[in-house]
Amino acid sequence: MLTLRQLFLNNNAQTTHFPLLLEFERAEGVYMYDSEGKAYTDLISGIGVSNLGHGNPKVVQAVKHQADKYMHLMVYGEYVQTPQVRFAQKLVSVLPSTLNSVYFTNSGAEAVEGALKLAKRFTGRQQIVAFKGAYHGSTHGALSVMGNEEFKQAYRPLLPGINFISLNHLPELDLITEQTACVILETIQGEAGIRVPDAGYMRALRERCSQTGTLLIFDEIQAAFGRTGKLFAFEHFNVVPDILLLAKALGGGMPVGAFIAPVNIMAALKENPILGHITTFGGHPVCCAAGLAALEVLLEENLTEQVAKKEAFIRQRLVHPAIKQIRGKGLMLAVEFESFELNKKIIDRCIHNGVITDWFLHCSNAMRIAPPLIITGQQLAHACDIIMEAIDSQTHTVQIAPSRSRV
Ligand code: PLP
Repeated sequence: MLTLRQLFLNNNAQTTHFPLLLEFERAEGVYMYDSEGKAYTDLISGIGVSNLGHGNPKVVQAVKHQADKYMHLMVYGEYVQTPQVRFAQKLVSVLPSTLNSVYFTNSGAEAVEGALKLAKRFTGRQQIVAFKGAYHGSTHGALSVMGNEEFKQAYRPLLPGINFISLNHLPELDLITEQTACVILETIQGEAGIRVPDAGYMRALRERCSQTGTLLIFDEIQAAFGRTGKLFAFEHFNVVPDILLLAKALGGGMPVGAFIAPVNIMAALKENPILGHITTFGGHPVCCAAGLAALEVLLEENLTEQVAKKEAFIRQRLVHPAIKQIRGKGLMLAVEFESFELNKKIIDRCIHNGVITDWFLHCSNAMRIAPPLIITGQQLAHACDIIMEAIDSQTHTVQIAPSRSRV
């Protein structure tokens, strides 16, 4: 009889030759429990998803309640479905007044696809500006605006007319012209190893887009919902995008994404052709019910307000000669080491000792720290102790471990 692990390897499509192969049976709060009952602290929130931790009772209740009422009824945009309406209303209420029309998708990449199409449709232009190091998802359109050639070369041809510029490099803003439909930027770059733009750069970017009639798209799929210490990361820069992209934590653990724009821009999707951008499951009622409950919990429990203090605690605890730099904002941090080999050994040791962390798709020598926002001081202290022990042990005995490189 095959084990679950063997079946997983045999029948489930694999994305690497070196899957982690951890087998979890349940998860609660900041912990995930394996088949032997061992608890692991989730220091990466399933890559930016579990901002409220696992199994928040109000979110679980909302899922059950909505599943009992109805699940799928019709493709997105035709029927008036209470969870979609209430969720959009709540999102709009916490956003700047211009961002008042929400298009729900199934995932982050689909929010990216929708936003790129909307920008082309609204402006009548074809060119796009994106950023070096960017990650926006794995579908063809999202891949086209990814700033890492290694991931793209096998999949060409991709979308034409895309210019890549460097974050914080003002002269390159000249590449944004009257021919540019949109600029797409992660408000804080995630998979590049957490890169935070300068406030002055963000203002100049906004200005250049407004001057040229280019739509500015902020991808906050990883950075929103309190992760950086503000409800939305663009609040750090006092700059409002024309289109905002959300996913990951948006659904409180359920799959849903969104692109959000002013209603007059979004109106471009209504004609020429009608039904030119549709989705069957986008804004699934159960996912929207979960997302609404998650947003209410986030706001009611003031989780965002505690994030800066937790960041300060991590920065104060993680001090070691092997740490070259800690980049990021709030609980969206990258701890940089000399090499991938060292980083990998430290990560492996942390996982062995019950703390789940990871490296970044486009930055293999930095460790990801993005725990659920609910993590307590004590839980954070324990995780930091495990990381410090791992750094100590691996800097004293540096051997090259078999690689599970994603890069
Ligand atoms: N944009 C950013 C900034 C992301 O971090 C991700 C996923 O990691 C995506 C887009 C793609 O989202 P999804 O995996 O839901 O398609």
